[in-house]
Amino acid sequence: MTKKIIKTAKRKKIALIAHDNKKTDLLEWAKFNRGLLAEHKLYGTGTTGGILANELKLNVHRFKSGPLGGDQQVGAKISEGEIDFLIFFWDPLEPLPHDPDIKALLRIAVVYNIPVACNRSSADFIISSPLMSEEYERLLIDYEDRINRAEELKKLGLDF
Ligand code: PGA
Repeated sequence: MTKKIIKTAKRKKIALIAHDNKKTDLLEWAKFNRGLLAEHKLYGTGTTGGILANELKLNVHRFKSGPLGGDQQVGAKISEGEIDFLIFFWDPLEPLPHDPDIKALLRIAVVYNIPVACNRSSADFIISSPLMSEEYERLLIDYEDRINRAEELKKLGLDF
């Protein structure tokens, strides 16, 4: 499969999400790293984004609340190249009504090869990486191949 490069700017577009049992954790982490976060463009699901904006006094673009489609909105933005770093403190100990959306978001983050931090130590390592303040060339599988393949199958008269 051919690959293409997506250029990530110095100013990263970071999405932050925390489930209810993890919101305190994320807020503590974000307060500690406020100075670093302020250098980037921030996004969040409804409640998480609201808490962060209020407590950190930073601009946070807010999507809908996670269970109401916010996770899917973040996933869509990742697929459009609008978000290049995901901090997602999901709750490993409780089933949630939007579990399929959570799984979909984590999957799409892998498809688009963006860095994902699901707990504080991963978030610490990523935020302190020298790459956070540099441009970065993200490798991506060129899915045009897949689209062309679908067209070839159509030409063969295969119904799918
Ligand atoms: P919330 O959504 O920030 O609106 O609480 C997070 C989630 O549950 O995915």
